[in-house]
Amino acid sequence: MVTTIIISMLCVHLLCFCAMFLLISTRLNGKKFGMEVFALGNLLLGGAYILQLLDGVSSSSILSYASHTLTLCAPVTYVLGAMRFFDRPTPVLKPLLAVAVGYTLAQLLVSAALGPVARHALLAFACATLFVGMSLAALYGRHTYARDLRVEMLVFASLIGGICLLNAAKFVMIIRGGLDALDLNTSFQMGFYIYMSFLGTVLPPSAVWLVLRRLTDELRTLATHDPLTRLLNRRGLLDSLELHFRSRTAGSAYVLVVDVDHFKRINDTHGHKTGDQVLVHVANILINTARKGDLICRLGGEEFALIALDTDREGALQLAERVRLAIEQTDVPGLSQTQPIRCTATIGVSDHFTSAQALDDSLQQADKALYRGKTEGRNRVEWVRVG
Ligand code: GH3
Ligand code: MG
Ligand code: MG
Repeated sequence: MVTTIIISMLCVHLLCFCAMFLLISTRLNGKKFGMEVFALGNLLLGGAYILQLLDGVSSSSILSYASHTLTLCAPVTYVLGAMRFFDRPTPVLKPLLAVAVGYTLAQLLVSAALGPVARHALLAFACATLFVGMSLAALYGRHTYARDLRVEMLVFASLIGGICLLNAAKFVMIIRGGLDALDLNTSFQMGFYIYMSFLGTVLPPSAVWLVLRRLTDELRTLATHDPLTRLLNRRGLLDSLELHFRSRTAGSAYVLVVDVDHFKRINDTHGHKTGDQVLVHVANILINTARKGDLICRLGGEEFALIALDTDREGALQLAERVRLAIEQTDVPGLSQTQPIRCTATIGVSDHFTSAQALDDSLQQADKALYRGKTEGRNRVEWVRVG
């Protein structure tokens, strides 16, 4: 009786969170982080338990077959949802249908060949195997696809590991004790469903937490980066500089303002889209030429700022010259081979500065030097003349 109540409450939890996942997914335009798939997983698992309650655990009716198939399909659905969450677009209905048909056939075969006990043992075995795979995948993710969610992945692996062990134990108990092992009044079954209930309570809010983290990360990136080149914008640059100068060992920095020459002509001759490709090309050159740790920003239009950190005047000038040469010598990729486009850039370099507050002054210095470079013929590096 107690176990039946626990299972009923678990159903309510699963279906409520199913509705919540659906509501969240309707609010997310475009990328849904797998929320709609998690909703389906909850619906399948809730459905499986409802069928189990209607039918009694050890029956061999159609409802029992359907309940077993849904019980196995639910974790498969969660895996597919997790794949979508981690940006691996995957179909859902076809694989699920394949699992459902395949597992129903397996049930029929096992039941016909080895009897109803083996059919119940099969479910426990299949679930245990699936959960081992899910735990290992979560642990693997800590070092690969989910490096930013190391703690969360460890928690998931442990929680899923628990249900894996319980299913393995259930498998052994069914093999040894037959259908009696499935009696809902045993303390093992009560423990099993208490743990399932615990998972049903803890995992859905955790999934919502993960989505919230991803959304806030994306918002932060949107607020601090330029959408075309993915470089920092002014705000992102200021934040990064403040972080840099907070370190006691931070040395002096130099601003290089890089402005593409006659960019308007490129737009007018080849179109705005090609102009955008040229901007992305210049951004990539800056990324590939700067030292690791230097800050790169799109100030706006065809104007970029490269902040050379922890260097001296000689280092900043050498970097500026390397950037100028790389831009001058590289074709813009992805454009017609018969008519390759190249561009040049003029670079103004500021005097050294040692605080984020000095950024505006240093940008003005670099701008002045840049203006001189433009008037003196373009495609050159100019150093600010201080004093
Ligand atoms: P100069 O050598 O003196 O720097 O000349 P310029 O043509 O590069 O400079 P100007 O300021 O006259 O023109 C900049 C052009 O950049 C004008 C504007 O339409 C274009 N532009 C600004 N933002 C974007 C953008 O995001 N994409 C594209 N394709 N063009 C842009
Ligand atoms: Mg320009
Ligand atoms: Mg300009």
